[in-house]
Amino acid sequence: MTFVTVIHMEYLNHIDMKIRKCMVYFLGLSILFIIWRLSIIETDVEKLQFLKDTLYLNKEQLQLSHQQLVLIEHLYQTKLGKEQPMVYAVTPTYTRYVQKAELTRISQTLALVPNVHWVLVEDSDEKTDLVRNLVSESNLLVTHLAAKTPTYEKLGEKDPRWKKHRGVEQRNAGLKWIRANLDPNKDKGVVFFMDDDNTYSVKLFKEIAKVKKVGVWPVGLVGGLNAEAPIIDQQTGKVSGYRSGWKADRPFAIDMAGFAINLELILAKPHAEFSYKMEKGYQESEFLSYFTTKDELEPLADNCTKVYVWHTRTEKPTVKGIIKGLEV
Ligand code: UDP
Ligand code: MN
Repeated sequence: MTFVTVIHMEYLNHIDMKIRKCMVYFLGLSILFIIWRLSIIETDVEKLQFLKDTLYLNKEQLQLSHQQLVLIEHLYQTKLGKEQPMVYAVTPTYTRYVQKAELTRISQTLALVPNVHWVLVEDSDEKTDLVRNLVSESNLLVTHLAAKTPTYEKLGEKDPRWKKHRGVEQRNAGLKWIRANLDPNKDKGVVFFMDDDNTYSVKLFKEIAKVKKVGVWPVGLVGGLNAEAPIIDQQTGKVSGYRSGWKADRPFAIDMAGFAINLELILAKPHAEFSYKMEKGYQESEFLSYFTTKDELEPLADNCTKVYVWHTRTEKPTVKGIIKGLEV
């Protein structure tokens, strides 16, 4: 009996040892596996960092343009999972005394936004040197285009602003470029119409990046009030109407600077564009109707309680003389 018990105990000890050994092996292997995985991730990041540094150091020899480097940088951020969707900011612009000042102001705002692709469209037959120089000095990712407003649609010197549609040709040219060059399977982003004379907070771009379909927010200094703003139903959290001093009953009483549309939607509705045929002041409403309903709008900027963009207008300067050789 005792003999049997001793054998039994020894057998149990033996099994116990085996299990312990197995556990030690298993633990060892698990630790090795974790170290191996970590080293893979680590080298991946290091490899990308190295690749990026090498590209920047050798950009002259590689003949890489600044635009290509910015794109590589964006891809790199995407790989690291830090990416924000790209904001495609479409800006109509035209030659006048204040143009360089306006473009300097907004390009320097955009320089503070990491995930922006500026689609800058000149109202002219050809791209001008003034804008070309500004673009190349900006260090931004820019697509520079030209699309001239037909003469009969152009505002006369003494016409009041509301008499003609402004920016139609240029915004449509921007949309055309976006639709021809971006792929819904590869490119993720949001499209925003960014007039050259407004004032934009950097905070606005963080809001735009959140847009799933169509996002809206208040715009300061427009529509005859201190701000035009969507009204949010506290129960449903949805947009129930609009506060505006001018035709608040429009289907979407929202300024051009008060909404952004996901790139996927822009690409899915290739015929949606702006038109001279639209009633004055109805460009935004008619364009938005292609994509969404009031019920689906996504209220942003802290539930439409914050103003991050202002519809500022620059006074036309009185210029009585020109200093030759000075680009202003
Ligand atoms: N714009 C243009 N060509 C023109 C007039 C305006 O390209 O003949 C552009 C302008 O630079 C701006 C946008 O269209 O980015 C809207 O014009 P504006 O600011 O004059 O319109 P408002 O703010 O009064 O609606
Ligand atoms: Mn304006």
